[in-house]
Amino acid sequence: MKGVAEDPGRSVLPVESGKATDRYDVIIVGGSFAGLAVASRLRGRVLLIDKDEIGEGQTSACGTLLEVPRRLGLMDSVLQAQNGLVFHLQDRTEVMDARDYPFCTFDYGRFCRDFANHLIVEILRASALRVEGSTVVTDRGRFAGTCIVDASGWRAVLARCLRPGYADQRRMSYGIETEVPSRGDSLCFWYDPRLVPSGVQWFFPCGSHVRVGVASYAGDAHLRGHLDIFTGSLEAPMERIHGGYFPAGLREPVVGSLFVVGDAAGQCLPFTGEGIRPALYFGQACGDIVQAVIDGRHSLREGLLHYRRFVRRHGWMYRVMTLTQHALLRLPLAISSRLIGQICREPLRSRILPGYVRFADPRVLLPLAPVGRELDKRPLALADSRA
Ligand SMILES: Cc1cc2nc3c(=O)[nH]c(=O)nc-3n(C[C@H](O)[C@H](O)[C@H](O)COP(=O)(O)OP(=O)(O)OC[C@H]3O[C@@H](n4cnc5c(N)ncnc54)[C@H](O)[C@@H]3O)c2cc1C
Repeated sequence: MKGVAEDPGRSVLPVESGKATDRYDVIIVGGSFAGLAVASRLRGRVLLIDKDEIGEGQTSACGTLLEVPRRLGLMDSVLQAQNGLVFHLQDRTEVMDARDYPFCTFDYGRFCRDFANHLIVEILRASALRVEGSTVVTDRGRFAGTCIVDASGWRAVLARCLRPGYADQRRMSYGIETEVPSRGDSLCFWYDPRLVPSGVQWFFPCGSHVRVGVASYAGDAHLRGHLDIFTGSLEAPMERIHGGYFPAGLREPVVGSLFVVGDAAGQCLPFTGEGIRPALYFGQACGDIVQAVIDGRHSLREGLLHYRRFVRRHGWMYRVMTLTQHALLRLPLAISSRLIGQICREPLRSRILPGYVRFADPRVLLPLAPVGRELDKRPLALADSRA
């Protein structure tokens, strides 16, 4: 990793206005899951821009399949593994056995910083303001790149300035969470409209504390009262609150000449709100395609087309999850809660859970290059071979 010093910006020279002489092969805006995953597949001259230090600015409960940190070699960030998912419904509690696909919670800061330590990129702490052709304009100068990747999360800061309305908040879910000192064994969800109308509450154990959160599928941002009641029921002091919008539906992954990845491209799954796994999966695929452009194996136009095609092939899962979310909100409660109960039990569990976890399959994530060593140069893993 280059450029992550006390003042990360100093090692990076901005391109003077109109004089795009200091050109990067790739500029990535956003240094969280999606941006780091893109960078992990690149070998050229790469500039990674984030408004925060890498590993700061957590929005997420950081629950994912244990296979994700295992594949990436980031097991030191894992806080607790869980073998079960518990669903508290209005009239019953259902437990889904997940021993065959264990989940985990991890430390966001540790995960991102350890990830970044494997990368050979220049990192600049700056806010990206807009994109003008092949130049990214930031509050610390202008930077030109052959390929530009928007991995800036749900706001999609670059894509939305090329396509107004691209990141429409009216079509997103919203969630907030905090940490409290408490313990537990399983990832727990409450689907009960008496607690949160059109929403969900969760309780994710992380060793000595738990992350508790509330989300509204209707995008209602006034959730603080619900969170207060929830944490109050645990009789534990609340720590810092974080959160934000979950894009609830796939967006166009190519905007102008931009590759758009992760939440910026709406790749977070509707209903479950799982966005880490897709951000890493599509991020590595995007990185492989971008590298092919840098190597001259694809033109930029071909690269953009490959990426678009790759992402759109996964559209079926987003349609299924959107339908599930609508069904949960619209079906009579007795029916939706019976349905969730059926899904938790055999024989449906063994049919549905493997299909769900194989989407954005963590087993195809490519291990990060050992620190300071060359990348795994296997034929392009995901995107190129399947394009
Ligand atoms: C309350 C909550 C709980 C969640 N829990 C889970 C969970 O348990 N498991 C799960 O899988 N998913 C969860 N999600 C979803 C998950 O957090 C996202 O899908 C995931 O973070 C997407 O990763 P990303 O890299 O695309 O975007 P982000 O993680 O949002 O990262 C975007 C990056 O871009 C940077 N950035 C933004 N604007 C600019 C700018 N102008 N200039 C420079 N940099 C900028 C930000 O600082 C940030 O580092 C949760 C979401 C919320 C809101």
